[in-house]
Amino acid sequence: MAKIKVYNNDTNRMETYYRGEAEAMPYVTNRTLTVREFRGSSNSPTLWTEKRAMTSWNSQRYIFGGPIPVGFAFKRPWEGGHGTFSQHYAGLAFDVGQTLNDATRNRLYENARSSGVWSYVEPKVLTPTWVHFDKRRRQSCLLNWWISTDSNWFERLVCFNCTR
Ligand SMILES: [Zn+2]
Repeated sequence: MAKIKVYNNDTNRMETYYRGEAEAMPYVTNRTLTVREFRGSSNSPTLWTEKRAMTSWNSQRYIFGGPIPVGFAFKRPWEGGHGTFSQHYAGLAFDVGQTLNDATRNRLYENARSSGVWSYVEPKVLTPTWVHFDKRRRQSCLLNWWISTDSNWFERLVCFNCTR
């Protein structure tokens, strides 16, 4: 059972959910993104994201019109493989399509770029075997790093951010 903190962008409040690994992430429709997929290899007892990232996922999944295999979305900074300012640490980025064939993954990449759903889709030259898209916030990525290192910091700083 994972504890999941979701910043609700509509109400400016933090919400807390408890979900099993095979259950859908909060706000995700039709179990197209499970807790297990969201966490990938992270063993963090607490996961965090934002409602806006989850509803963006719903939109992308609908627009793509087929299953999108998810390698992972969430990572803590010390869980590796990413730069200091990765949006994965804020639970706002998705690395997907690892198990798709090249043609289908290319179609997903083009679809993500043209959908208008995401703030950022990583150029293909940097992601040869997956597709990275995220719904980043305007706040500095440094803040994302801090909020990700400790769940109390996360809560305090996200709430600080909501008031600006
Ligand atoms: Zn990524």
